[in-house]
Amino acid sequence: MEEFLKYTKQKAVKGKASAQDIYRILVKECKKRMEKTPYVEGDKKLYYISAEFLLGKMLSSNLINLGIYDEAVAFVEKMGYTMAEIQDVEKEPSLGNGGLGRLAACFLDSIASLNLCGDGIGLFYHFGLFEQKFVNHKQMELPNVWIEEPSWFTKKDTDIQVSFPHMTLKAVQYDMDVIGYHGKKNTLHLFDVESVDESIVKDGISFDKTAIDKNLTLFLYPDDSDDDGRLLRIYQQYFMVSCGAQMILADCKKKGYPLDKLYEHVVIQINDTHPTMVILELIRLLREEGMSLKKACAIVEKSCAYTNHTILAEALETWPMAYLKTVVPQLVEIIEALDLAAAQRSDLPSLAIIGEDERVHMAHIDIHFGKSINGVAKLHTEILKESELHDFYNLYPEKFNNKTNGITFRRWLYSCNPQLTHQIEKWIGKDFYEDASKLTELSKLKNDEEALQTLLDIKQIKKQEWVEHIYRKQGIVINPDSIFDTQVKRLHEYKRQQMNALYIIYKYLKVKAGEKPVRPITFIFGAKAAPAYTIAKDIIHVLLCLQDIIANDEEVSPYLQICFIENYNVSEAEKVIPASDISEQISLASKEASGTGNMKFMLNGALTLGTRDGANVEIAQLAGEENCTMFGKSSDEVIEHYAKQDYCSKDFYEQDELIHTLVDFLIGEEMTSIGDETSLSRFYHELLNKDWFMTLLDLREYIDVKEHMLEAYEDRHAWSVKMLENIAHSGFFSSDRTIEDYNREIWKLS
Ligand SMILES: *Cc1c(COP(=O)(O)O)cnc(C)c1O
Repeated sequence: MEEFLKYTKQKAVKGKASAQDIYRILVKECKKRMEKTPYVEGDKKLYYISAEFLLGKMLSSNLINLGIYDEAVAFVEKMGYTMAEIQDVEKEPSLGNGGLGRLAACFLDSIASLNLCGDGIGLFYHFGLFEQKFVNHKQMELPNVWIEEPSWFTKKDTDIQVSFPHMTLKAVQYDMDVIGYHGKKNTLHLFDVESVDESIVKDGISFDKTAIDKNLTLFLYPDDSDDDGRLLRIYQQYFMVSCGAQMILADCKKKGYPLDKLYEHVVIQINDTHPTMVILELIRLLREEGMSLKKACAIVEKSCAYTNHTILAEALETWPMAYLKTVVPQLVEIIEALDLAAAQRSDLPSLAIIGEDERVHMAHIDIHFGKSINGVAKLHTEILKESELHDFYNLYPEKFNNKTNGITFRRWLYSCNPQLTHQIEKWIGKDFYEDASKLTELSKLKNDEEALQTLLDIKQIKKQEWVEHIYRKQGIVINPDSIFDTQVKRLHEYKRQQMNALYIIYKYLKVKAGEKPVRPITFIFGAKAAPAYTIAKDIIHVLLCLQDIIANDEEVSPYLQICFIENYNVSEAEKVIPASDISEQISLASKEASGTGNMKFMLNGALTLGTRDGANVEIAQLAGEENCTMFGKSSDEVIEHYAKQDYCSKDFYEQDELIHTLVDFLIGEEMTSIGDETSLSRFYHELLNKDWFMTLLDLREYIDVKEHMLEAYEDRHAWSVKMLENIAHSGFFSSDRTIEDYNREIWKLS
């Protein structure tokens, strides 16, 4: 790379270049090459519309896809740095929340890499999801300042405007090139409002929620615990879909496609219900073009497809009609017409678009007026068909399909674990870079002692790297020879971080009673809680208090440690996942639609400790039951408990002495002496009197299987065989496979 060399010579004379300098030169080189890269073209184009794109840092990913990663590493090392140090310079875009947003980012990478013509559409949030800080064992929220120069985004000219009852907002468009692996490029289009004003944010993340012209693109998922917050979310959603729909139709006109054949040239994948109004907006715009309502509906129905990500009732969006009348009166007539049309297809109240409570069911719009609805793991899709959306399934069986989620191996293996990647290449050659199913060839090494030892050695290197990272970042000293038991994901009761907390209390009391583990254990957490989700914040508080109690206990701290990663994000995930031994995937069965964290761990040789939920079921099937630890009540049993309403956490508490002791610890002296009594006792009562996600139901079994798993770790040989079998069978979870499925069955791009 002649640019690099020229630079090396110059700087060699002038003295040492800073990491900033190196970062800038690499970005410049990437952008130069990206500009020259041709667009993927096609007669039909996909638009992936999503409220979130959890991109992560883009430097390594772009270098890999441009095919210049190894050269860049050589350059960086020649200048006296490591790639990790250079990557550290980049700020991670804060445009997503969790799995759903990360999925959208993995999909963009795979779509371009498979040479499919498909762009992303979303919003350009200035502060995105908040930045998390820990103060007094509690989560504090700050604006996440991520926009910087140089940027991967380029401001584009656009004359798109979006009208609301009392104002018209001018759009600003930011585009990012999405480079395919050794291939062509697509675009991510993010929209901003011209009148946005960052200065209205005061005191953490609070701001005037009614100043829509100034606040619309400040935050992702602004607090919606009051009316103003909920209205703001509708403003955001409509702004996003209107910009998207206008851009899509303008693209079609420019290419000369007749709008009554829209579905032959356009397919819109709606990522969860946040972008559902795109259906309504497209119908509105087509009518403005002179099309009849009936015809516009038929055309849009053939162009849109919906992905469902949740079966949690409280997460299925419904908006009061009154809100929609306030924010988007121009859509109300269309909603009413669709409600009537839907009622003609079926008069079941469970299928209505406008419910009896005058609330609009967003998912119902997607299912009636989209051509496809997919779940994101086999079990999830079955539950949708059999219970949650059963009436819809009876009406439209042909619309339902499954697309088990995936992750891009370019980020979650090649970039975050180059040591393992290079070793795999030595073992089985280069084919797996293009075809992840080739990883199965690794199984041939299961009797190769040297190979198995190498696998353990690489894990140890990644643990050491992480130990150094977390010391630099948080000043915590972690024992690299301990077992790394990791639960990193959004904080939610259904994910049951609280069950893990109760296990840690169990272990703490054991050590206090003189039963020391054969090997020290480090319990690693990373999680943000939604700012208005009180119980989730209480759980963070419990974990941070436990972290402190253990760290300050001389008897226990040599054996147990908790490390709560502050501000968990993609960059942190890329560091901790390759270092982990145990992957905690302990959601209440039936509640986690798929999970993708589980796949990242599997690919990096961590063993799953999980319930039979979401994609865990498929992981266990592929890796082999003997190579995972699965436990807990099945989704059928859980669904039955909900139906019969017969789960009572207090019974478990009263009838099981151990559970009683563990739960009482939450409000015991150790905890209250450093914690907030209101928060601790609120959580204690929640667990005793409600426990909606049935923590205590699976706790006993969790403790038992986890003890077994920690013992099994001591047979390093047997453990390494399991690691190998997990990696070898993870190929199915490449998002390239997922995208091929979407394309074959829904998008049908050429
Ligand atoms: C993959 C990922 C997630 C999703 O994790 P789950 O365990 O599937 O919930 C969330 N956050 C980040 C930063 C991720 O990289």
